[in-house]
Amino acid sequence: MSEVTGLLSVVIPAWNEEAMIAKTAQTVSSILEENKVPFEIMFVDDGSKDKTWEEIQKASRAIPQVRGVRFSRNFGKESAMFAGLGAAGGDCVAVMDCDLQHPPEKLVEMYHLWQQGYEVIEGVKSDRGKESGLHALCVRIFYDLISYSSGFDMSRASDFKLLDRKAVNVILNIREKNAFFRALSSWVGFKTTQVEFEVQERQAGVSKWSTMALVRYAITNITSFTNAPMMLVAGLGVLMFLASVILGIIAISQKVSGTALNGFTTVILLELFIGSIVMLSLGIIGYYISRIYEEVKGRPRYIIAENCGEGIKNQNV
Ligand code: UDP
Ligand code: MG
Repeated sequence: MSEVTGLLSVVIPAWNEEAMIAKTAQTVSSILEENKVPFEIMFVDDGSKDKTWEEIQKASRAIPQVRGVRFSRNFGKESAMFAGLGAAGGDCVAVMDCDLQHPPEKLVEMYHLWQQGYEVIEGVKSDRGKESGLHALCVRIFYDLISYSSGFDMSRASDFKLLDRKAVNVILNIREKNAFFRALSSWVGFKTTQVEFEVQERQAGVSKWSTMALVRYAITNITSFTNAPMMLVAGLGVLMFLASVILGIIAISQKVSGTALNGFTTVILLELFIGSIVMLSLGIIGYYISRIYEEVKGRPRYIIAENCGEGIKNQNV
């Protein structure tokens, strides 16, 4: 087995993580240094309102391998990861969370797998950590739906990954603005393997996801990966049509045989039913149209305001 040594870029999206930057930079760099992995750390400040950017600048002065990119406002974690991939110069690129919930020691294991020729190394959760009743249920439904629609088992998937330059370039060339990174890295294919990790406790600060943000995230990602809701509408339409044919035949035969009742109940029920199906369908179709609109507008995924650290070009993708 010939050992290749290439540069590992570690992309770390950070939003209001002032309490974590120094610690994360320190921990990640010392682990990688100890294991003689050549690396750079690419912080992406996703429009933080706190001192995150100052902390990143400080870290980049203290540790030469640390670089940073700052967004002009909060564009979300997906955009931050894409920006990190775009700015990373490594032969392979890892993505991890800023709160050390993704254990950095695993980066070394992933890097060794990359040296052995794997091109996509996915971190999978051995368990989902602590998550309470309703939240856990919603998360499960989301993962079942996304697994079903994307055709990959996503139930233990995470954003903790290491990708070869080839896979990174493919992902960067995808023009979709609402790309779902976690599923895309399976979708690109290549020589793939998995590394199990245990989700750690968040080291400082609070989770950045409100319930509303999670619901939005789920809907965006499900619709960006599947047309199933539209097919559901078509299916409902067919069912409705069959039901109305049967009801129609009954109604006509009652009319013909003179036993027609004053059928207000049926009329009302039908009105309601059809009304609701039509509304539902319009809603779903409207949603897809709005997504097409988003894509067609062709806005950039993010806007970079500043850079720090060595030799970074301003790259607005
Ligand atoms: N994050 C981000 N932009 C956002 C939300 C989150 O860059 O709009 C980052 C955050 O700083 C962290 C990672 O995404 O590094 C995961 O966020 P968090 O730990 O809050 O999520 P959880 O672990 O609770 O799923
Ligand atoms: Mg976290």
